[in-house]
Amino acid sequence: MSEERYFVGLDVGGTTMKAAVVNNEGHPQSVPAVMDTHAERGQDAGLETMCATIRKAVADAKLTMDNIAAIGVATPGLMDIKAGLILDPPNLKPWKNVPVRDHIQKVFGKPTAYQNDANAAAYGEFWVGAAQEAKSMVLFTLGTGVGGGIIINDVIIEGEHSHGGELGHLRIDTPDRGRICGCGARGCLEAYASATNVVKRAREEMACWRGVSKLRNYYTANDDVLTARLVFELAAGGDDLARKIVDDTAYYLALGACALIATVDPDMVVFGGGMVAAGEGFRSLIDGYVKRYGLPFPTKTVKISFASLGSDAGFIGAAGCARLLVQKK
Ligand SMILES: [Zn+2]
Repeated sequence: MSEERYFVGLDVGGTTMKAAVVNNEGHPQSVPAVMDTHAERGQDAGLETMCATIRKAVADAKLTMDNIAAIGVATPGLMDIKAGLILDPPNLKPWKNVPVRDHIQKVFGKPTAYQNDANAAAYGEFWVGAAQEAKSMVLFTLGTGVGGGIIINDVIIEGEHSHGGELGHLRIDTPDRGRICGCGARGCLEAYASATNVVKRAREEMACWRGVSKLRNYYTANDDVLTARLVFELAAGGDDLARKIVDDTAYYLALGACALIATVDPDMVVFGGGMVAAGEGFRSLIDGYVKRYGLPFPTKTVKISFASLGSDAGFIGAAGCARLLVQKK
């Protein structure tokens, strides 16, 4: 019994942070401990909340710190993964140059891994989720933005400047006429396929759509009412305009996937985040475009799947990174 090794995974987000103890097989030992991030209270308070969330996770698992072999922390970029620093992510203002890895390591006296949150989510899916049978995988996470992660043979592609796997900024249209992205460039995948941009495209399409569409009922409503989820629901209900927008979204995501298939030639491309609720119809649309536009040989066997861990992927993956520090898969 005492042979079992446990790892804490902590996933820090702009609004909340989440932690749980995960065992050697990747199973969470309790529901995750969740605390509000309150970035506006400053980074010292933030570091304290991280430690409190970790302690609560250990207590919730009915364990003590002695049972914990290592800790993994995942945060949103911008960051310096090698140095263990949160730099200045837009959703954690006003934090700047926070020495998160060294702080956690010092407070708990445990080996501590540090990773980008999308990379951690990808590792979670690779370890025990949708891609657990895969040797290499690429994850696209669809939310307010489009995040990504690339895992090849148990190695997370972090890149030289911690920007490896930033798949939202893959260029799928020309930089002179493409849609404008939050990063300032044009033509990035995120500018087409994030939840926010699905809604934007829906508004634009509505303005020139000649047919009937229930989306028109939401034309004057604010963004809280017209959501990507609603577009997908209306599409499932047979609304032609909503179906066009969903079909275009699948096409854009497939273009992103094709670029990665040509780069990595992975076993599996996984899509996670809110839009996966759209189900098998959406998955097979993406799959169809990948087969049509991707490199013929690798796309024959590549599996296009939806993520299976939901919002738990981040802390499970962070715990998996902790486990990597002390042992191999
Ligand atoms: Zn961009």
